[in-house]
Amino acid sequence: MIPLSIPYLDGNEWKYIKECLDTNWVSSVGSYVNLFEEKVAAYVGSKYAVATSNGTAALHISLILSGVSSDDYVIVPNITFVASLNSIKYCNANPILIDIDPETWQMDLDLLEGFLKENTYLKDGDLLLKTNNKRIKAIMPVHVLGNMCDMNRLCEIAEKFKLKIVEDATESLGSYYEKQHSGTFGDFGCFSFNGNKIITTGGGGIIVTDNSEMAKKAKHLTTQAKSSSLEYIHDEIGYNYRLVNILAALGVAQIEQLDHIIKLKKEIAAFYYKHLSQNDNINFQKITPGAIVNQWLFTIKINNQKSVLKRLIDNKIQARPFWLPMNQLEMYKKDIYVNKNDISNQVYQQCISIPCSAGITREEQQKVVTVLLDN
Ligand SMILES: *Cc1c(COP(=O)(O)O)cnc(C)c1O
Repeated sequence: MIPLSIPYLDGNEWKYIKECLDTNWVSSVGSYVNLFEEKVAAYVGSKYAVATSNGTAALHISLILSGVSSDDYVIVPNITFVASLNSIKYCNANPILIDIDPETWQMDLDLLEGFLKENTYLKDGDLLLKTNNKRIKAIMPVHVLGNMCDMNRLCEIAEKFKLKIVEDATESLGSYYEKQHSGTFGDFGCFSFNGNKIITTGGGGIIVTDNSEMAKKAKHLTTQAKSSSLEYIHDEIGYNYRLVNILAALGVAQIEQLDHIIKLKKEIAAFYYKHLSQNDNINFQKITPGAIVNQWLFTIKINNQKSVLKRLIDNKIQARPFWLPMNQLEMYKKDIYVNKNDISNQVYQQCISIPCSAGITREEQQKVVTVLLDN
């Protein structure tokens, strides 16, 4: 089987993890956690970073710190991984789903702006929905497949309508919009280091922010909100969301290789673009002008998706469809879905992600191309 996207562990992973084991610093404190936070902050160009147990936890804490509370709404694109929406629900808030752009597969900003203009009003600095006077507190752009929407425009809309921005940047480490790294446009940016992401800690995440107060609060909330260094005194309900030292050690080794991994990913993508664009039935995600993407997970759009998926699997090539659009999931069916032509469903029915692990060989890639073009 040619795997879809597996970790590339080619650096100091063994060495740093062994050091954790040799020194007994395996758990929730240790120098690698701080080092990992420093390295990620430096890489993306944010002032602070707080490591978490996974990307979903990073989103949850960022929403809490953005002031999202019971009965609020948070705006999110209809095509994303379910964790984006779940993190909203963990705050007892509700999503407002926005359909995606047919080319870039990111939140459609025309739809978003039209919706906000027609259906909301500002009162005492809060944005309220006309139908029920409930507050829309934040917007969560999701940088799907490492691409981004027009971030200048998104930030302008957020400012005009008084929305906090929590970026679901979980797929976009190494992606830039007008030379600025993803995750640094909003109040908070959240990254994931799950096994399938561009670099991995096995499981892990991180929150980046330029706000020192918020960074402190994020650390506090992710570590059980303990307010005394000696005694077990906790000043609010906290979470056990920290990243452990062993995994942070893995992360440090991984981020050392990030630039190399991105270089490999871009070469893999270039090979696919070159060979697959011969076929008129195969299309690609349009990269938003001004964006540079990390090419984390190569995804094509193809008409006969179901049969192509089957052919790939039959040829021992791992491939997967896009996420089922959020408005089609049982628990989110009743939520507000802003759309004109349900582009999400069209894109969903045509997309296939194909093998692109950083370690994939040219022969393996050639086999994927041959199977795809053989129709
Ligand atoms: C991976 C991912 C997450 C969640 O990250 P975890 O580390 O798995 O919790 C959230 N949103 C999107 C879009 C993702 O791809």
